Amino acid sequence: MSKTHGCICLNRNGGRRYRRRTAFPGSSRPQLSEKQMKTKEIKQDLEDRRRGIERRLAAIESDLGRQLDPDSADRAIETENDEVLMGMERSGREELKAISSALDRIESGTYGRCVLCDAEIGEQRLEALPFTPYCVECARGAAQ
Ligand SMILES: [Zn+2]
Repeated sequence: MSKTHGCICLNRNGGRRYRRRTAFPGSSRPQLSEKQMKTKEIKQDLEDRRRGIERRLAAIESDLGRQLDPDSADRAIETENDEVLMGMERSGREELKAISSALDRIESGTYGRCVLCDAEIGEQRLEALPFTPYCVECARGAAQ
């Protein structure tokens, strides 16, 4: 594609100030398809989620750090809290992993397809679970 085309236009117009907005006049600007737009939104959403989880994990970790106080009187309560916190940490980390592999799939263009059977993951399912790597069928199989 000729990037100088715009300049030639100016000359042809006899110096008339005429500026085209597109970089490649004549050819239409590459339009994002609906699916690409959707993927862009999902990517944004996943990145937001990832940031949220990272913040939550950091808070949990600093909480756990504080609670590892050997001189504390309420050890039993604290142990219970620790278990809850550690459970939250674990699920947070798993979600984080799922999110980054979903982001990888977006990059490689395989997002929206089941990693096991390559079937298209339904739109509704992706809306509910944007980072799921499995179609409904495979998820059902994995849960059994
Ligand atoms: Zn599948």
